Amino acid sequence: MTTTERVPRGFAETNLYLVPAGQWEALQPRLVSQRVTGYLESRGILGGVYDAELGWLSPGEHARELFSESVDHPGFEYLIVYEHGVAQFVPNAHTGRFGIHCKACGASQDEALHALLLDPDANVEAGTRLACEACGASQPLSGLHGKVEMAMTCFYLNFCNVSSTRLAPDILRDLEARVGAGLRLIVERL
Ligand SMILES: [Zn+2]
Repeated sequence: MTTTERVPRGFAETNLYLVPAGQWEALQPRLVSQRVTGYLESRGILGGVYDAELGWLSPGEHARELFSESVDHPGFEYLIVYEHGVAQFVPNAHTGRFGIHCKACGASQDEALHALLLDPDANVEAGTRLACEACGASQPLSGLHGKVEMAMTCFYLNFCNVSSTRLAPDILRDLEARVGAGLRLIVERL
């Protein structure tokens, strides 16, 4: 990755995901993404393209208004928008402990989940199950509970390298209106 060279000094290695609470399906290709990014551009939160190849978006001149507390401009490095019929597991690069245990025998499932998320050949989708190496029982990725927030989701916003995880309430409300669902905040610490 060459992007780390572009991380301004002072950015914590924290990513902030917003995912729909409850069931959410992508209806038309990129429709919600366009609504959301259009709104964020109109507020000056977004200001252009960060990486054209990857489709990542840059902060705008009012980017730090995304947060309810005072942060140095711009407050985040770039935004990734995901909207797809195939759900993804987030956070997908969390390096701490997920705190997941087998429901049958209680063995930690953290290493199994990390291995699954890091496996380029693994096909992680809504029905994917995490199997316990100790007893063989399995549980669906979509129903995992641990000490960090997790989700299987067809839509997310991922504000990368944020200076704060406190979102401005009015912006959160406006985003929820455009997504058509309540939004859940998931913090990923790298
Ligand atoms: Zn087990």
